[in-house]
Amino acid sequence: MRGLTIAAFLCASLFAVTVLGQHTLDIVENNGLSENRIDLVIMGDGYTSGEQQDFASDAQNAVDHLFGKRPSKQYREFFNIVTISTVSNESGADHPATSEYVDTFYDCAYDCAGLGHLICCDYSTILSVAGAQYPAHDVVLLLVNDQQYGGSGGPVAIASTSPVSNDIPFHEFGHTFAGLGDEYDSPYPGYVCEDIFPNISFTADRDDLKWNHWVNEDTPLPTPESTAVNNQEPVGAYEGACYETVGLFRPVYECVMRSLNNDFCAVCTEQMVLSYYGFVEPVDAYSPAQNSHEGAHGDSIELVVEAVEPDPNTLAYTWDLDGELLSWSDSADLEFFFECVDQGEHQLTVTVSDLTNLVMVDPENLMTMSVSWTVTRTDDGPVENCDDPDTDPDAGGDACLDGGDNPKKSGCGCRGIPARRTLLSSLLPILLL
Ligand SMILES: [Zn+2]
Repeated sequence: MRGLTIAAFLCASLFAVTVLGQHTLDIVENNGLSENRIDLVIMGDGYTSGEQQDFASDAQNAVDHLFGKRPSKQYREFFNIVTISTVSNESGADHPATSEYVDTFYDCAYDCAGLGHLICCDYSTILSVAGAQYPAHDVVLLLVNDQQYGGSGGPVAIASTSPVSNDIPFHEFGHTFAGLGDEYDSPYPGYVCEDIFPNISFTADRDDLKWNHWVNEDTPLPTPESTAVNNQEPVGAYEGACYETVGLFRPVYECVMRSLNNDFCAVCTEQMVLSYYGFVEPVDAYSPAQNSHEGAHGDSIELVVEAVEPDPNTLAYTWDLDGELLSWSDSADLEFFFECVDQGEHQLTVTVSDLTNLVMVDPENLMTMSVSWTVTRTDDGPVENCDDPDTDPDAGGDACLDGGDNPKKSGCGCRGIPARRTLLSSLLPILLL
C-alpha cells in the first residue's frame, strides 16, 4: 500500500509543473489520492525541444481516445493522469530496416524482432524516469513521435502517433490490466498458448467455458462465424485465438484483443472493470473515521461514505443495523438516532456495491465494500420507531427497528474487504500486436 508521502506528493503537485533536468511533469487529471486510483503516466520519445507542444496535444489525443470507449469511459474517475514530457535531441524513431537512425532519449526503434510495426525502446530508462518523476505510477504509456503505424506491449505500452495506432493502448492495457490474451490467430512461432487468459478457452464445451455466463442457451458451441450478427454478438466460442487457428476459442467474432478499431467484447470488458477494482476500492473515505460511538436518547450521529463513482453512477448503497436492512437511507449518508435502538452495543453497516451491467460475475467480491460502526446506546429509555428518514424518531413510524420486520436484503451476509490485485505487466512477456 502506498502511503501518505505519495498522496501528499500528488496533492502538492496538483496543476503544478515540475521541471527536473529535461523532464517536465504535468498533472492532466487528478481524481483522488494515488493510493486509491490507477495512476496513468503518459510519456513521449522523439520530441525535440521545439516539439513539446506536439507532445502535449498528442498526449491529450491519447487521453481522449483512451477514455472515449468502454469501460475506461465509465471508469475515468478511477484514474489519475499525468504526462512526463522529455526533450529528445532529434525527432522521430529509428527505422533499422531502412537504416534511418535518430538520437532520441528513450532510443525507440521500429523493426523490433524483425517486425516492421513492433517498436522497442529502452524500458529501464523509461521506468526509471517514470519512477523518479512520479513514484505513484501504476501504468505507463509511451508515445513515439513517428507517423508510421507501430507499438508494443509489456512493461510499458508503446504507441506511435500514427492515427492508426490510436487503439494500440487499448489493446495493450487489456494485457496489462486484465491479463487478457491475444484473440487473433496469426502464428507466433515458438509461443505456446497457456490456459491462463480469461478470454481464451481450450474448449467450446458449455460447462467448461470461462465466460458461459455471457452465452445464451440457443447460441451454438462452438460458434460458427456465420452465427455472428455483428462483431461482438452473440457471445459464444469462436474458433481461432492465441495465435492458433484451431483448438482455441475466443468469445466473439471481433474484439479489440483480436483486431484494432473494435471495442472490448463483453467478456474482456468485464475483466477490465474487475481489474480496475483490483486497484481501486469502492470507498475512498468515510466519516466519522472513528468506528465506535456512544450516545443516549436525543443524540444522533451523521455517517457518510465517500465512494468512487463510475459515470453513469451504478453504485448502490445499503445500510443495515445488526444485520437488518434499514429503510432510512439508500444513499451515501445516514443520520443515526440512538433512541432507535435498545441499550447496549449495535452494529451499523453500509455496503457500497457497483451494480454495473458490464460485469455479471465478480468472483472475488471486488466491487462491494462495507464500512461498519459500533454504536452503543448508554441509557435504558424507550425505543422509538425510526423507519421514516424524514421524520424525527420521536414522531414515531410504522415499524420498530428492533421488531425486525424490515426485510433482510439477500446476499448481505457475504461481505468483506476485497483482496487487492497487483499489476500484471511485469509478469507478462512482450506480446506482439
Ligand atoms: Zn475480447
